[in-house]
Amino acid sequence: MDLFFHNLTLLTPNRLIDFGDLLVQGSAIRAIGPSGSLHPPTNCTHIDGSGLILSPGFIDLQINGGFGYDFTTDPHSIWAVARELPRYGVTAFLPTLVSSPPERIDCALEVFLQGAPANFSGARPLGWHLEGPFLNPRKHGAHDPGYLRLPEANLTQNWSVKNGVRLVTIAPELPGALLLIRTLTSRGIAVSAGHSCASITEAQAGFEAGIRYVTHLFNAMTPLHQRQPGLAVAALNEACIHIGLIADGAHVHPELIRMVWKLAPTRLNLVTDAMAALGKPPGVYPLAGKQVLVTESPPRMENGQLAGSLLSLDSAVKNLIHFTGCSLSQALKTVTGIPTRILGLRKQFGKLAPGYPADLVLLTPDLEIIATFVGGAPVYFHPHYQERTHAG
Ligand code: ZN
Repeated sequence: MDLFFHNLTLLTPNRLIDFGDLLVQGSAIRAIGPSGSLHPPTNCTHIDGSGLILSPGFIDLQINGGFGYDFTTDPHSIWAVARELPRYGVTAFLPTLVSSPPERIDCALEVFLQGAPANFSGARPLGWHLEGPFLNPRKHGAHDPGYLRLPEANLTQNWSVKNGVRLVTIAPELPGALLLIRTLTSRGIAVSAGHSCASITEAQAGFEAGIRYVTHLFNAMTPLHQRQPGLAVAALNEACIHIGLIADGAHVHPELIRMVWKLAPTRLNLVTDAMAALGKPPGVYPLAGKQVLVTESPPRMENGQLAGSLLSLDSAVKNLIHFTGCSLSQALKTVTGIPTRILGLRKQFGKLAPGYPADLVLLTPDLEIIATFVGGAPVYFHPHYQERTHAG
């Protein structure tokens, strides 16, 4: 189905076009221009975007599950969750596997390799974010310390982008970590520092070896200390490091989010770290084989450790605007262009530009999601959406 969006604000890579049109042919964006400048072919669907904004689809690099499903407990559930994520504007994501035994990691890769079930429509899984098992036991957070191990080549022999490994979180101070970082990055896998007690020099050695991202800044790492700066300071100071942040206002205090925004506005990437209770009422939900009683946000384990979040990605964007006063277009980049840079997929996703896949979100200026498209196919409609479409 071809789509013609007209009279809307377009979030193009370098600027907002206030009154613009965008034409989708098949699965890709065909043309973009000021209103009235494009000539849609006959029999394409017209979408009146008056008062609305069209953004590239949102991309979540860290999500543990949602809608009752936990990816680590059941890797097959990535497809069930992928069907639901477009309601939050998400068109692509990295299902995240917390530290697990090797058989579970192999199962996760197998699920990705098998591909989508028949008649699937939803957000695209771009590969796994393996959060562990090479993490520092002193910063294990909600991960089972029994599954943590030292970096080893044997376990990672089949880890590749083709096999579904897109991002790996490692504590760079562990023995053997630097060699493993070099090996994984040479295979095109993005490597992140996290769940770590790295000193500033250990963190910098990790960056030198190829780390380009830091997993949920400030959470599960050495806190800011005036005489012993660690990973957080190293990441904020280094221009080539992108920063993952959970902006629910509870994992990180809003004043620190404001500080990060001032220091690194073009390197900030919002993630949800959402767990199975996302989109569900209070109750008991799985997280990596454990049961978590979820009664409040953010959820906590019995020992008080944070157990992921209940944050949706569109809410994270709203929170960032609320906490920092940044513009909508600045905030949207943290979940569109910036994650594609981290994954080395800048030329494939995350932009409104001709030739890019039509992974699109139609939203109101106050960030209500009206409709979501993946590869030109509608995957979510707000109940009022239908009023705005008609056959051309
Ligand atoms: Zn974590």
